Amino acid sequence: MTRPRVLLATRNGKKLAELRRILSDSVDITLIGIELVGIDDVPASDEPAETGETFAENALIKARAGAAHTGLVAVADDSGLSVRALGGMPGVLSARWAGRDRDDAANLDLVLDQLADVPEGRREAAFLCAAAVVSPDGTEHVVEGRMPGRIIHVPRGTGGFGYDPVFIADGQRRTNAELAPDEKDAISHRGSAFRALVPTLALVVGRVGHRDSDETGPNTA
Ligand code: IMP
Repeated sequence: MTRPRVLLATRNGKKLAELRRILSDSVDITLIGIELVGIDDVPASDEPAETGETFAENALIKARAGAAHTGLVAVADDSGLSVRALGGMPGVLSARWAGRDRDDAANLDLVLDQLADVPEGRREAAFLCAAAVVSPDGTEHVVEGRMPGRIIHVPRGTGGFGYDPVFIADGQRRTNAELAPDEKDAISHRGSAFRALVPTLALVVGRVGHRDSDETGPNTA
């Protein structure tokens, strides 16, 4: 019997690694024997524009595009940093805060610059993540996760990605970039969102698998 395949619809290699880790740790995913495939494992396609106003809308846009392009159940996330002193920004603009063609380092430097005069105690922030699953038959689900914390003044650590070197989660002394990968997964916005998504993902994959085997007959799988 072939293993059901689920597309992880992200082009961000570091995010993909986190998603694989988080989902592979799930008993449900292992029991069903789901094979997680990345964007590089399927034929190339254009990246959908992230035109949503919310993380949930953008996660759905990416998952819908992945499912439509591949015919697989697709999972995607949209995530970012929300800084209280910046009125909740960069928010959905986190990946391109310093400009469309700038990188993680430029985004991080800009946020630090913008917060230069903001004192300790007013540097609260949170990472937010919406995780979506979309099946080719149009079933859609979204869940959200949140990691509250604060922004420090000087980057520390080499792990993680994005704004991790300047973010300390509540209850931690180390930045996200100083945490081991599994320590970050255990408390992260992405970890919470995807752990919450797993039961629904398992149901959707189970149903699609069932329907496919009904359609193709019992001996073809
Ligand atoms: P997305 O790929 O559109 O979801 O963009 C997410 C952006 O938010 C990333 O490029 C990072 O700048 C930021 N971000 C999201 N999650 C994290 C995280 O776990 N650590 C650090 N930065 C993150």
